[in-house]
Amino acid sequence: MTRQSVSVLGATGSIGDSALDVIARHADRFVVTALTAHRQWEKLAQLCRRHRPDVAALSDPAAAQALERALAGQGLPTRVLAGEQGVIEAAALPGARTVVAAIVGAAGLQPTLAAALAGKRILLANKEALVIGGAVFMAAVARGGATLLPIDSEHNAIFQCLPADYSRDPAATGVRRILLTASGGPFRRRPLAELASVTADEACAHPNWVMGRKISVDSATMMNKGLEMIEAHWLFGMSREQIEIVIHPESIVHSLVEYVDGSMLAQLGHPDMRTPIAQALAFPERIDAGVPALELVRRGSLTFEAPDHDRFPCLDLAYRALGAGGAAPAVLNAANEIAVAAFLGGRIRFTDIAPACAEALARLPARTVRTLGDALAADAEARAVARSWLKLPVAA
Ligand code: NDP
Ligand code: MG
Repeated sequence: MTRQSVSVLGATGSIGDSALDVIARHADRFVVTALTAHRQWEKLAQLCRRHRPDVAALSDPAAAQALERALAGQGLPTRVLAGEQGVIEAAALPGARTVVAAIVGAAGLQPTLAAALAGKRILLANKEALVIGGAVFMAAVARGGATLLPIDSEHNAIFQCLPADYSRDPAATGVRRILLTASGGPFRRRPLAELASVTADEACAHPNWVMGRKISVDSATMMNKGLEMIEAHWLFGMSREQIEIVIHPESIVHSLVEYVDGSMLAQLGHPDMRTPIAQALAFPERIDAGVPALELVRRGSLTFEAPDHDRFPCLDLAYRALGAGGAAPAVLNAANEIAVAAFLGGRIRFTDIAPACAEALARLPARTVRTLGDALAADAEARAVARSWLKLPVAA
């Protein structure tokens, strides 16, 4: 069997760990072409020794130099690329058939776009790329002849529950709507008055999933579900009215598809990202993900409830941004990235995140986004508005 060549963007992160774990379990099926990260050169050096990629790229040029020195004289086949352009080049390497897009935030947009234009099979975790550049990104997928396989657990669940020939048209296949499940994060039951004083570590202590710090804070505000609603809009061609968000604290049902005949199909499993990653890596085959079987009887019960919109104002902001269209989702995402980084850095309160996003949405027009430049301009403007509203230093 010819091995499938895979590049992992964001290889040093939480999704990177899970993807490389599945890949390492199936050395007969997969071979690593490129690995990329931002600054963590020591971890990337270890991954290079283990997976022996053709290319390793770090967007921080000084870190790339350190990686180059660390790998010198070790007999590895690995060429080191540096800077944002190096990561973009790594994302589109001719040698790779599949690209795991797992950079966090807007920084993932251009590399993922490059993979789309190069016609790769893209395993998409980097939802922000789709939120910022939706129309541009989907056009690049079509133009490049790329294949998009969602590995965000909810979208992967929906992908598994949709008909095999589904092509972004719910009515054509009798799909009425989709239900995105959400755990509700660590603050689902926390008294509202206490939210202003929660710490970054408390916000990152997710009850069910172990993830990077940015998405963990997004789960605590439920902005993550808002971004996922916009992600689902682009991936599956659903209007915002066709996407419902349901709180399911156990994180066992990863999402559902409702059909016009009243059937609801769901995908269940442990909250472990190796399941969706393995599903997409091997698609349409199935491979062992290293995840134990789900024991339903031991679980006993699964519960569902409606989200509390006062507790989670970011949900309404996301529906509003998708309704406004154009650059509004990019504005929302950028303001959120600034606010989350400031919260993680101890500079603002948890409860400042949603108002900063609301302010950016209110202040900036939802301009049409036709090009990457339009999306990046909206992103930059929203960062500036959020920084000034949060009274952060200009380049914070
Ligand atoms: P992590 O923070 O754990 O990892 C982020 C990765 O991106 C790291 O490899 C990091 O490199 C790299 N990176 C960060 N900034 C840049 C940059 N400016 N340029 C290039 N690379 C950069 O994040 P996660 O793995 O948790 O999340 C990754 C993406 O997947 C996010 O979009 C998230 O929403 C999505 N996702 C994650 C899930 C999870 O379970 N973790 C679940 C579903 C979706 P370095 O280590 O050097 O900083
Ligand atoms: Mg998710």
